[in-house]
Formats: sequence, structure tokens, C-alpha cells
Amino acid sequence: MMTDIADATRVSLGRPFRMLIGETWREASGGARMEAINPADEQPFATIPAGTAADVDMAVAAARRAFDTGAWTGLTAGRRAQVLWRVADLLEARAQEFAELETLDNGKPVSAARAADLQLAIGAFRYWSGWCTKITGETPTVDLPGTFMAMTLREPVGVVAIITPWNFPLVQAVVKIAPALAAGCTMVVKPAEQTSLTLLRLGEVLLEAGVPPGVVNIVSGLGSVAGAALAAHDDVDKISFTGSTPVGKTLLTAAQGNLKRLTLELGGKSPTILMEDADLDRAIPSVAGGIFRNAGQMCAAGSRLLVARTVVDRVMDGLVQQALALRIGPGMHPATTLGPLVSAAQQHRVLSYIEGARREGVGVITGGHAAGDRGYFVAPTILLDPDARATVSREEIFGPVLVVTPYDDPADLARLANETVYGLSANIWSRDVAAAYRLARQVKAGTITVNSGMIVAPALPFGGFKQSGWGREGGAEGLSAFMETKSIITAL
Ligand code: NAD
Repeated sequence: MMTDIADATRVSLGRPFRMLIGETWREASGGARMEAINPADEQPFATIPAGTAADVDMAVAAARRAFDTGAWTGLTAGRRAQVLWRVADLLEARAQEFAELETLDNGKPVSAARAADLQLAIGAFRYWSGWCTKITGETPTVDLPGTFMAMTLREPVGVVAIITPWNFPLVQAVVKIAPALAAGCTMVVKPAEQTSLTLLRLGEVLLEAGVPPGVVNIVSGLGSVAGAALAAHDDVDKISFTGSTPVGKTLLTAAQGNLKRLTLELGGKSPTILMEDADLDRAIPSVAGGIFRNAGQMCAAGSRLLVARTVVDRVMDGLVQQALALRIGPGMHPATTLGPLVSAAQQHRVLSYIEGARREGVGVITGGHAAGDRGYFVAPTILLDPDARATVSREEIFGPVLVVTPYDDPADLARLANETVYGLSANIWSRDVAAAYRLARQVKAGTITVNSGMIVAPALPFGGFKQSGWGREGGAEGLSAFMETKSIITAL
């Protein structure tokens, strides 16, 4: 498999992966390294530094120094915009290398890494480049006796801890790094230990594009070691976290010491709702993509399908055909459309959920087992849970597993859709757009699409209701997550 990689990727893999702290590429203090495992063949193919609390201290100190000395905000806004745009250009020039590193590390099909992950990352740097020159405050009226001149200033929040998961390793970090840079922050990035390669290489791109040393620091390492030290650090002003709801909850305690700001993008159990009059020819492939793309390892995966009983047979037939048409294989093979899960642990977790479902009497319509004799593959799986009571209907599985529940009464849909502790996204399909829109207003979720699969764009606020998180990423609201507002009032 390694014979099929591009020359640039081979050269990249031949160079050591080190952490970026200030202007220096470093080994972990103590020198320990961790293996990067290719999930398609279970073989280690690279190593990364296992960063420690001491490394986190150094990285936070570098970010603090860069912030306090104005290493980044001292540049004109226009220059900062240029630098972010240049990051996008450089990333575009290295897109094949980054896509292949992502595939080797995470397992996803390389075609998807190139078409989705890299395009989203490049697009995010271009979008946020534009914001550098457009940050403004207000001049509110002060309704008091006397004459006042009042203004609000928007200032960067300071040093940001960026902690990200393994499902879209580059993108999940870039959608934080780019707005944090646009806001004028400095930062320490802690990638997921399973998939750190693209972020360590992104450090090179950032420096080459002209991001001054110390503005972005990258520390690889375990969540329980480097992640925990970073989250609890008293010289960090804000945590921007994407990951699981259980770890997100622990960050509330970590943030307590200095009351640092906290944005949480957490898990989901998002419903797709197919009404009786939905355009099934469009909806069925979209539902399949919404759960089988990225092997279902998506926070906004459409993992529950609520479908009108009158059309359920046709929908199930269509979905089974879609599942069987997937080409399961290593992500580096150009024809692959369903890669392995990221790790042995994730494969085990997904298969355990499926076994639990069987024990609870849930029907297995297709799949329901591992695939291949090596690699962390799980066959695309469709389960039927008629009363939506089983564990698989409530808990996030994070794998290629769709749970289908037929409904009879459309008046019941909002209740069914909201019957989860999460509230990240929902997709509604109906030719009666007014009915779909009415339902959209009742569903508690941060992003709702009508007659479309999930849409993610840098201008759109993205985030969760309920236990799917705190705050939003994207657009003006996403920028605010990296800013403080200061009021200055002068008596005239
Ligand atoms: P995870 O919570 O285990 O890990 C996420 C990150 O947190 C990793 O970098 C990890 O090293 C770090 N971490 C772990 N323990 C820590 C601790 N005690 N202190 C500080 N950092 C710690 O999540 P995961 O398994 O990598 O990712 C899957 C989860 O991410 C799923 O639940 C998924 O829904 C969620 N997710 C959410 C979004 C979103 O935007 N809402 C997007 C993608 C993934």
C-alpha cells in the first residue's frame, strides 16, 4: 500500500514529526514518542512526540510571550489577512501530501480527504482571512444625564488552548486556528493522539506563510497528559474544544481555576426525518452518505432515521442497496468509498454497540459485523428499532451504524427527534417545505437542513443545543468566541 503514495508524502514521512514550540521544532521533554498506526493494516508507519506537562508549560509560555509582545497583532490587519490567505495557498500546493497523511493516519478514503477535508481547511483560511480587516465595535447611546462618548472595542481573548478529535484531524483544528488568528489570539494546539501528523505538518505551513513564531504552538501527546495539562493551565485564557461529551464535561473543572472561557463542540445523535412526501430518489443516497461517509465518525452524522411507515419498505430497500454498493477497503485505494475506523478501540466500541442491540432485540437489516481480516473495518450496518427505546437509538456510536424507526403520526415527530440528550443537527426531507420548516422550528438542534444532507460552511454558525456543547463556531458568532468586548465611556 505504501508504494502508492505520492513522492511528497514519502518525503514528508521520511522527515521526523516534531512539536512546534516558539520557533523551535522539539522532541518531547524526556524524549518519549508514540506510534502512528495505519488503521487499514494495523501497522505503525510513523512516530510522534509524546508531549508532557513540561512541554505544555513551554508552549503556553511561548504563546503568552507572543501575545504580550504583539508578535501577531503588531502586524497590520491587512498583512495578517495576507498571511492567512497565503496559508491557504501553501496548503493547496501541498494538498495531496496532506490528504495522504490524513488517510494513512485516520483511514478515510483519500479521495474524500482531498475533496472534503483539504477543501474545507483551505476554504476556512480564505474565509477567515477576510475577517482580519473587518473587526469593528459599536458606539452605543448612553441614556444618562450628561453627554458621553461610548464605544466598544473588540479585543482578542488572549492565549487559546485548541484541543481536537481524530475524525477530521486537520479540519477540526483549522476551524479553530483560523478564526483565533483572525481575532488576534495566540494559541497552543493539542491534536488527537491517534491522528497528529497533518497538524504537526501544518505548523511548517503556518511559519512559511509568515505566522510569527510563538503565535501557533503545537504539542502532540495523550489527552490525559498533554491535553489535561493544557486545559488546566492558569495562563490559558480560553479553551476551544471539540471531542466527546464526557471529556467536554471534565473541562468544566479544568476551566475553573482561572475561569477561562470555554467553547465545547461535543457529540450528537442527530435525526434524519423522511416525511411521506419526501423526494426519496434524492433523500436515500443522502441518508446513506450522512451515516456511512467517514465511516460514520462524524459528530453530525445522521445516525437516527425517522421515516413515515407508508414508505419505510422502499426506503429500507434503497438504503440496503446503498450500503452494499460501498467499496470497503484501505483509504489509499482510489476506488475505496468506506475505509476502516480510526483505531482498534473504536472498532471494538462500535461492534459492542451492535452486539448490545442484538441482545435488546433490535433487528439487523444489513451488516452488523467487522469486515476484512485485518484493519479496523466495520461493515455498513442498518438496524431497525421500532419503538426507538434501545441503547443504539439514544447513545452516540460514532461508526457506520444507522438506526431506523418508522413513525405513523407526523405530529409525533418533534418529540421523537428531540428524545436525546444531544442537539447538534437534523435533516428534514419533505416536498411540503412549509411543513418541514414548521418542524425545523420545533427541533432542538444547532444546524437543521431541509431537503439536503449536512451542510458545513465557514460563514454558518455550527454548534449544539443541550449536551452537544456550548457556543458556536463559524461566522460572526464564531469570531466572537475568540474575542472580549471592552466598553470605554468618556464624559464630554
Ligand atoms: P475525545 O473527547 O476522546 O478526545 C478529543 C480530544 O481531547 C483529543 O485531543 C484528546 O486527546 C483530548 N483529551 C482527552 N482527554 C482529555 C482530558 N482529560 N483533558 C483534556 N483533553 C483531553 O474525543 P474523540 O474520541 O477524539 O472524538 C470523538 C468525539 O468527538 C465524538 O463524541 C464526536 O461526537 C465528537 N466530535 C464533535 C464535533 C463537533 O463539532 N461537535 C466534531 C467532531 C467530533
